[in-house]
Amino acid sequence: MIYFRPHSLDEFIGQKRIKDELSVYISSVKKRNDIFPHTFFIGAPGLGKTTLARIIAYELKRDLKITSGPVLDKTGTLAAVLTNLKEGNILFIDEIHRMPKPCQEILYTAMEDFALDIVIGKGNAGKTIRLNLPKFTLIGATNKPNLCLAPLRDRFQLIFKLNYYKDEELRDIIVKVSKSWGLEIEKDLAFKLAKASKGIPRQALNLVRRLREFVLLNSKTKDQKLLKVSSQVFEDFLKLLDIDEWGLTPEDRRCLLTLYKEFKGGPVGVTALALSADITPEEFETIYEPALIRMGLIARTKRGRILTQKGYLYLKEKFNLPYKE
Ligand code: ADP
Repeated sequence: MIYFRPHSLDEFIGQKRIKDELSVYISSVKKRNDIFPHTFFIGAPGLGKTTLARIIAYELKRDLKITSGPVLDKTGTLAAVLTNLKEGNILFIDEIHRMPKPCQEILYTAMEDFALDIVIGKGNAGKTIRLNLPKFTLIGATNKPNLCLAPLRDRFQLIFKLNYYKDEELRDIIVKVSKSWGLEIEKDLAFKLAKASKGIPRQALNLVRRLREFVLLNSKTKDQKLLKVSSQVFEDFLKLLDIDEWGLTPEDRRCLLTLYKEFKGGPVGVTALALSADITPEEFETIYEPALIRMGLIARTKRGRILTQKGYLYLKEKFNLPYKE
């Protein structure tokens, strides 16, 4: 598998406000040779949380240890990770909300006092010993901040919420990634791919990976350094993936058609809609729904999801389905 990893804030496209703020903290920590503040990244999978953690470590020339909430499922496992850290290390915990409560609680003193309180023995005979930890930075990432205990959330000095990307930003990412993977793609074609990327760089990169395979398969001149994506090959690729002029994929269309046919345009709850459209509720909520809402095709109401006027218009244009009375 081929990867794309921006190494500096300058190479990271989008999330301008976050980048500006991080850049200030990185400079000041560098100047004072200090410990980077504990940082919390909130946002859907694939928006760049791990990438930003890597960039912070890279720019500060600090070691980064990457782990995740589901791996740290026992207090002993977490204690081992923490005691193995060295001064200045950055510990990145992805899906931090999935750590069990006792593990989250251990992080309180680890973050605040750089200490680990270990209880030895049980009941009245039990006593607590305090182990000092090296000064480190914790970077936590989650899509569900509410599932983190409030005292844990409060101990992060910096909290950033990553937004879904604009199509123009994804277009620039696509052009850049393509180039580093040996593909030359015109901006307007990249924009079409961006529209199908749901505002998420990981989705955009997946599409570029597939496009690259497709172009390699259809190209006669394999020895060129940079393979140009012709309009014809690109159109064939979109056809193969069944991405339409609106940038909608078969999954998007399934969501809209299910909402129309099975739930009369809504309102319907997320789980019922996702499962009927054969999509996991998790993926529906983090990938498909936000994009369909941004495009104005569905809307969120108190009683559930509904098709909008524009949603009906799309179904009429695409499948000749009548408007709801
Ligand atoms: P997360 O940790 O939020 O799930 P990642 O940091 O793993 O997301 O990003 C997913 C992929 O998208 C990675 O390959 C990463 O290099 C790429 N990526 C994410 N954000 C950007 C960006 N702003 N510019 C370029 N590539 C990005």
